[in-house]
Amino acid sequence: MNFDVVIIGSGIGGLTAGALLARYGKKVAIFESHSIPGGAAHTFTRKGFTFDSGPSFYCGLGNDKPSLNPLKQVLDIVGESLDVVPYDPLGHYHFPEGTFPVYSGLEEYRQNVAKITPEGAKELAAFESKMLDLYDCLKDIPTIVLRSDWQLFLVLATRYFPSLIKSLFQVGMISGSAGDIMDKTVKDKWVRRLIDLECFLLSGLKAKGTVAPEIAFMLGERTRAGVEYPVGGSAAIIDGLINGLKRYGGKLYLNSHVDKIITKSGKATGIKLKKGEIIEASVVISNATLWDTYEHLLSPEDLPSSHRQEQLATPAVKSFMHLHLGIKAEGLENLTGHHVVVHDSNQDITVPGNTCMISIPSVWDKNLAPDGHYVVHAYTLEPYEGWEKNADYENKKKQRSQTLYKALEKVIPDIRQRVVLELIGTPLTHSRFLRRYQGTYGPAIAAGNGLFPSCYTPISGLYRVGDSTLPGIGVPAVAASGILCANTLVSPQQVEKILSLRCYQKQ
Ligand SMILES: Cc1cc2nc3c(=O)[nH]c(=O)nc-3n(C[C@H](O)[C@H](O)[C@H](O)COP(=O)(O)OP(=O)(O)OC[C@H]3O[C@@H](n4cnc5c(N)ncnc54)[C@H](O)[C@@H]3O)c2cc1C
Repeated sequence: MNFDVVIIGSGIGGLTAGALLARYGKKVAIFESHSIPGGAAHTFTRKGFTFDSGPSFYCGLGNDKPSLNPLKQVLDIVGESLDVVPYDPLGHYHFPEGTFPVYSGLEEYRQNVAKITPEGAKELAAFESKMLDLYDCLKDIPTIVLRSDWQLFLVLATRYFPSLIKSLFQVGMISGSAGDIMDKTVKDKWVRRLIDLECFLLSGLKAKGTVAPEIAFMLGERTRAGVEYPVGGSAAIIDGLINGLKRYGGKLYLNSHVDKIITKSGKATGIKLKKGEIIEASVVISNATLWDTYEHLLSPEDLPSSHRQEQLATPAVKSFMHLHLGIKAEGLENLTGHHVVVHDSNQDITVPGNTCMISIPSVWDKNLAPDGHYVVHAYTLEPYEGWEKNADYENKKKQRSQTLYKALEKVIPDIRQRVVLELIGTPLTHSRFLRRYQGTYGPAIAAGNGLFPSCYTPISGLYRVGDSTLPGIGVPAVAASGILCANTLVSPQQVEKILSLRCYQKQ
């Protein structure tokens, strides 16, 4: 088999790059290790319950408003759309001091903060105002036009000159952390923890480690576009990208684990599958994490050793404990779908087990669970180290999942009596089913300690996409990484030609 581009992995990074490159006329094939596509965003079914393995918090995917979400921009370009269910409040934060609803509209959000800390609410307004200034300046340059090579400057200077100038004035904030802005605007301890929590939920790091544009986009988009859940769960997004890929002749091969990237004289020439088959291509794109790519898919001699060592030394965010439950829904008619529980105010929010995320997506899409039931996904950070499939494994699994049950009891006090299906996932489960190094959430590259790497590698013809490349972790970010890579592999004129068929001129 011979292709223009082969992609290792069908996470959102690999699928967006693949679908776009197919749209640009390239002969593309994606090879996925698993039987289910989507990576961290795959969906699986057990006994009639449809579970999201990872993300469930989305915004800007519907058709009502022009979207700044890079994922939506790719779906548009490959002719796909999604049915979505909008909802507000977007979630409830449960602190030991009380429960607090989080609304998409900043005014309503702040009013609720003011009930707890009036002074803090004023400071939060100052923080948000700075963030929204940043969002206003960045939002005029649609992600779909971006690329990773020098021609980016041509594109920006010729089509987005006023926005480029506006961005130059904000360059300090763009390269700084959300924590820098928080330090300048917020003293109130409660609000500082709230901001830290929102950053942690997004990047896996607190405000000091999270780049300011990531939070600016989150606040800007949830205010402007609101939040919504795709009907069918994350699978609907993955199916949309696959349909788009196939519409333009791209191929997806499941159960196709890639063993090695083949290189000759410093150039990538294809891949070798575990089954033994060799696939040739002039471009290879890895959607595997940087550790999996550099440690397993390449041999040490393929890379300059200093670059290899430096990349492999990148710190990783921890893995997860997961609880996927099917529960009886009777009497829970007013249940809402997203909750974050912080158990202990005296412990840092990043301590494993202290902050638990809960998603109950069947409150928005009843078809995800059998009649009279809900699907529940609860998860919390958990270190990979210390987990082994030994005699104590099942016992430890039960014990470490208790923090998730305790969190769920804040939302559904009799949760344990309602369970009809229980699946406990550990970091070993996470790394096995997601094929991720130590089951990590992604690289822990703190703001100020360098940028996520671009799609380029030292090997000619080998590129990378996904959450260990720029701009970072999270569904919109990995979709952006797919765009950056795909656009870099074609001329700005080719991008322009496809975009002219859609409406991604300045909004
Ligand atoms: C529990 C959890 C909750 C989350 N919640 C949210 C949320 O609500 N909102 C949000 O925006 N983001 C969320 N995220 C983050 C987001 O899901 C991820 O950042 C994103 O999906 C990662 O996509 P990716 O393309 O980088 O990689 P992945 O999804 O990891 O995809 C990589 C793919 O490559 C495949 N692969 C790896 N090695 C090989 C090989 N050798 N051969 C073949 N295939 C291979 C893997 O099987 C996988 O399918 C969450 C993540 C987790 C884990």
